[in-house]
This record gives sequence, structure tokens and C-alpha cells, in this order.
Amino acid sequence: MSIRITVLGCRGSLPAGRKDTVLFGGDTSCYEVQAGEDLIYLDAGSGLVSAQTQGTREVHLLLSHPHLDHLMGFGLFPALRQDCRIHIYGAAWEGRNPEEQMRLLFAPPLWPVWPGDGPAQIFFHTVMPGEAFRAGGFWVDWMPSFHPGGSAVYRLRRDGKILVYATDFEHGIEAEQELIRFAEGADLLLYDGQYTPEEHDIYPGFGHSTGETGRRIGEACGAKRVWIIHHDPRATDVILTEREKRLGIHYARQGDSAEL
Ligand SMILES: [Zn+2]
Ligand SMILES: [Zn+2]
Repeated sequence: MSIRITVLGCRGSLPAGRKDTVLFGGDTSCYEVQAGEDLIYLDAGSGLVSAQTQGTREVHLLLSHPHLDHLMGFGLFPALRQDCRIHIYGAAWEGRNPEEQMRLLFAPPLWPVWPGDGPAQIFFHTVMPGEAFRAGGFWVDWMPSFHPGGSAVYRLRRDGKILVYATDFEHGIEAEQELIRFAEGADLLLYDGQYTPEEHDIYPGFGHSTGETGRRIGEACGAKRVWIIHHDPRATDVILTEREKRLGIHYARQGDSAEL
């Protein structure tokens, strides 16, 4: 069975809808994964607003972590307005489970209503380190990322295909070794390349990496494809196109779609 992934948003930190970001897009983290009946969303950034869920009775949403750019789209997730079962998976961070994380943001006065008060039913699942879980027909497991406050790197497996979602990940010797092992043989590795090496020197400890490191990890783990994601909101189309050419690696664009 084929697995289709579509980029609904690959901007990091904040949305960036401007004339100079039209090519790579301005919406924040959201990736749609489709296989047969299964519909899975990786993160609920502003890109989630354009999810195509019409007629769907069940969807799965995997949260890497609760930073704003990964949650802000949830209140306008189209599935909330449908007779739909929404399964939300995420780890506990800073002592709060996924429901508690979301209720911090989606409550007055920051958001007018709890989104779960609509026609959809929401089911929360707290995922544990080292324990694989099912999301539809996928097996999913995760490793902790290197990111302030914590984040999850997810690995989705189905029918022998492997998709690894390494967003909000800061490199370092230990981090790289762990990810290389975790992502071994990935059909597609999505990798946080928010910074150039020079920018990373300015922002050490901010929890993000570079396209150069993504390329190196992709080669070391034998990934068939690597897409750089989580583009800095200040990075224009010209800047990202130049990086892509220089590194010979794909920088994801909103609307990109691939079959694994
Ligand atoms: Zn982020
Ligand atoms: Zn983050």
C-alpha cells in the first residue's frame, strides 16, 4: 500500500506569509500522511487549517511538542466540525499531558472556546518513551529530541516503509548518533534545518539544526530521501533556494507531496 505525504506547512517558529515566502510557504508545521483509510497529521501548526478531512470519520494527530508553532492551527482544524473521532498523541512535557498542554492554549482569554466542544470527539493518548503504539495501520515510536522543554522525533512504519519526522532537533555528537540509529533505512527523513551553521553559532541551545547536518545524518542513516523543514520565518524564497542549490538537498515547500 502506498503512503502519501503532503506538506501543509513547513515554516518554523512563526508563520511567514509574505511576498518573499510564496514559494516555500508561510504556514507552520503540519504534514499529512495518508495510506488507504488512514489519515494522520504530524503537528497542528497553522497548516492544519487546510487539512482535507471531508467525509473522514477518524483522524490521528501526532504532536511533537506543544510549542505554539506546532499547536496554533488546532482551533480551526476542519475535522473538529465533523462527526469525527480525533485521536491525539503526544508525550508529557514539563509535567503536563497532551490534553493539559492544549487546554493551556485553547481556553479563554487566549482562545474563545475549547475546540473539543464541537461535534467531533477527541481522544487523548499520552505516549511513553520506548513504547511503540498504533495510529491506524501505522506502528509509531519516538525518541526524545534535543530541544528546550522537550520534543519527540517520530518514526512511522507501515508495509516496510519508514517515515521519520525530526522537527525541532538540535544536533550535537550524542544527538546525531541517536538519530542516525533511529532513522536507519528511512524512506523519507524530515529534518529541522532552520539555521545556517553561522546562524546556529548565534543561537546555540535554541533547539534547531542546519541543512548541512540534515544532509550528513541522511547519508549516515541511509535515508532514501531527506527534506529540510522548519524554515526560519526570516528566510526568504531567495535565501532558501540558494541554500538548497548549495547543499544539493531538498528544502520542503508547502504543497509538496511524495509517495513512499
Ligand atoms: Zn517549532
Ligand atoms: Zn519547539
